[in-house]
Amino acid sequence: MSNGDPTYDESRIADRLDEQRAATEQRIAEMRAGFDGMVAASEGSNADDEHDPEGATIAFERSQLGALIDQAELQLREIAHAAQKISDGKYGVCESCGAQIAPARLDARPIARTCINCATKR
Ligand SMILES: [Zn+2]
Repeated sequence: MSNGDPTYDESRIADRLDEQRAATEQRIAEMRAGFDGMVAASEGSNADDEHDPEGATIAFERSQLGALIDQAELQLREIAHAAQKISDGKYGVCESCGAQIAPARLDARPIARTCINCATKR
């Protein structure tokens, strides 16, 4: 371990991105399976969503799950973006102001696109 070294280990970050990507892909696959199951269940019951309280609940749960899948897919794109920046040699540079992103921030949030100053400005 390098003492007080203000840089970070890009290969370690890349490994973590790979792990996150695998975990996120797995989660999306699981959620998709659950989503399809829900759709099949609601179609199978031939429920009238407007008048059947259970049908309305299923519709709500389905939309919640759909939102979670969207979120996970966005996360996946951010991970791919960060991985691309590593291969381009641009990783750790704020996309907004061009400053070096603090290593502690990258450590906590490897997919961060901007420095903490720009992130809190929005
Ligand atoms: Zn910035």
